Amino acid sequence: MALHKGTLAIFESNVGVSDAVLLHPLTEEAFIANLKERFNHDQIYTYIGNVVVSVNPYRKIQLYTHDVIDEYRSRNIYELPPHIYAIADDAYRSMRDRNLDQCIIISGESGSGKTEASKVIMQYVAEVSGKGQDIDTVKEQLLQSNPVLEAFGNAKTTRNDNSSRFGKYMDIEFDFRGDPIGGVITNYLLEKSRVALQGQGERSFHIFYQLLNGADAQLLQTLKLSADPLSYTFLSGSGCVVVDTVNDAENFRNITNGMDIIGFSQMEIMAVLRLVASVLKLGNIQFEHRSNIDGTDGCKISNPQELREICDLIGCPQENLSVALTQRTVKAKGDTVKTDLNTAEAYYARDALSKAMYSRLFSWLVQRINDSIRVTCEVRTKVMGVLDIYGFELFESNSFEQFIINYCNEKLQQIFIELTLKEEQEEYVREGIEWIHVEYFNNAVICDLIEKNNIGILAMLDEECLRPGSVTDQTFLEKLNHNCASNPHYESRGCKKNQSDRSLPYDAFRLKHYAGNVTYRVEGFIDKNNDLLFRDLSEAMFLCQHPFLKKLFPEGNPTDKCLKRPVTAGSQFKVSVTELMQNLLSKNPNYIRCVKPNHDKKAKTFDIDIVRHQVRYLGLMENIRVRRAGYAFRQIYEVFLYRYKMLAQDTWPQWNGEPQEGVRIILEAQQIHSDEYAIGKSKIFIRNPKMLFDMEERRRDK
Ligand code: ADP
Ligand code: MG
Repeated sequence: MALHKGTLAIFESNVGVSDAVLLHPLTEEAFIANLKERFNHDQIYTYIGNVVVSVNPYRKIQLYTHDVIDEYRSRNIYELPPHIYAIADDAYRSMRDRNLDQCIIISGESGSGKTEASKVIMQYVAEVSGKGQDIDTVKEQLLQSNPVLEAFGNAKTTRNDNSSRFGKYMDIEFDFRGDPIGGVITNYLLEKSRVALQGQGERSFHIFYQLLNGADAQLLQTLKLSADPLSYTFLSGSGCVVVDTVNDAENFRNITNGMDIIGFSQMEIMAVLRLVASVLKLGNIQFEHRSNIDGTDGCKISNPQELREICDLIGCPQENLSVALTQRTVKAKGDTVKTDLNTAEAYYARDALSKAMYSRLFSWLVQRINDSIRVTCEVRTKVMGVLDIYGFELFESNSFEQFIINYCNEKLQQIFIELTLKEEQEEYVREGIEWIHVEYFNNAVICDLIEKNNIGILAMLDEECLRPGSVTDQTFLEKLNHNCASNPHYESRGCKKNQSDRSLPYDAFRLKHYAGNVTYRVEGFIDKNNDLLFRDLSEAMFLCQHPFLKKLFPEGNPTDKCLKRPVTAGSQFKVSVTELMQNLLSKNPNYIRCVKPNHDKKAKTFDIDIVRHQVRYLGLMENIRVRRAGYAFRQIYEVFLYRYKMLAQDTWPQWNGEPQEGVRIILEAQQIHSDEYAIGKSKIFIRNPKMLFDMEERRRDK
């Protein structure tokens, strides 16, 4: 269990309260005002017990220097202001010295500072752990995995110039000395739709612009690319190709260098770039309408030169790709026949292929990095996991992606509550104190509504995807309405209870998440869950000469006649979320909750309404409440005695006895009722923070 931090520091720093558990009176307003006051003085970190709340400063503050790291690794944690380093240090030490595997769970909305926080942790661990040639190589590889994955998985959005468009969990593995020896990265749900389409003012994934800007003339020629992003349909539609704060060309050199350090061969790097180039060029493939003799519509590729170049890049016989993009094989009564796609269908197929190529390339990259950093020898290791995953999402219009992301957050909230309570309980038991029951909102009922086998929303979606006959998003919605109407967390216009609720569109359902209500439009649910690529396309990819494209499309193997359906996107996500939860539950959790102070990426601007919204859906007040419900404050005897011994000066000039006894004498001298505190084995537990304030006041008056 983490030591209780932020104790003495709160009294020493003069800006607000550094542990919100000690706020008095405790209201949402007071909590936010405290964050704001601290933020205005560059104190961006605040504790809730052992949880760090971090408010994004949007400018460089001198918080991450070697000196600061030295402070946190050498000084008593109680005497220092809140910092991610304190959490990292505590987690690292408990892992190294007490053999407790750790995980650090970072959550918050897009642009709130999650990814930066995860880097701060990695930086800290890299600095405080051992040195030596082998260790340094491992550290360098682990650190380099960040920019490489960011190049392929991050993009400029309206919220964040470097927004992660995938979820990431990374286990860093250590040997018995506490030196890093490797790691494993797991990626979640890349937003692949961004490959073909971005919102106005946003960009596609960084790598495309990095490649076009950073490659020399020869490389561009090899990849058959022009340097101008605007000459690519997939990049030109959003009205944004440059980002002021980003140097694409320089980053290109950095990441190819990073790939080299991680252990990619030059041939592998080229193979990756060939796929990136092919995706860009696929977007430029145009189709024109062609009428068939039998009167049906067909189409053909109107710029065959582009097609030829793509085929060169991936080692594909031209005929294969051309046919796969314009026709579809249909099995009917034992026969297979080719039918023509019309232009709209061909464009759809083209985009689906581009997205599949890119997202599978991304997963391949993660696996490839893992092959380099994974620990292969049979040594007993300790693990620290870092989870940087999308926060709860609530947009103007919400779709399948938000549904999946919010499901994940619902699960994270569930383990947060479970683990916080569990951890409290365990500490009480360890300290020999009676456990106090805490009331809290249990969101299991919403998790069940979404994920329960056979009857959850995900199961019904799968069922609908498998059902023969005319299946539409609307029939899926009807199925939900039929089955979920009685669930208090489900609402839809098609249910009797919500018939007259005009705020609900007819093509949507609403879930009452722990963080708030979200209305999901069902359009696209079936398609996105199916996530099917025409077999013709996967077959064409499987038959390519490219070094690993084949591996990305195993279902395209023509000799593999197994027609088993691939798992749906929803089921796949459910499996990975379940695994993630099991993994997290097996570790000692540490939390960083990131908050965004404004929507304009501006420094020195703290918008109370925007922060309030996040405080609510991060469940921070609930967090404080749980923390305060039992004993709000705890401290090891030595530290408590040291701070307050002056309050009992009349009793002794110098206390030489047991610290525990000394603390008891101090409290008795304050005439504090024994109901107000509990004597643990190593710590004093105090029920109401007010008592501490009084003692602080008396201390000041002395
Ligand atoms: P998220 O991963 O939550 O979407 P990021 O970690 O990418 O957000 O942060 C978004 C941007 O905010 C960063 O690119 C950086 O400019 C700024 N930022 C985040 N955290 C800090 C910090 N601790 N200090 C300074 N700037 C920060
Ligand atoms: Mg991020």
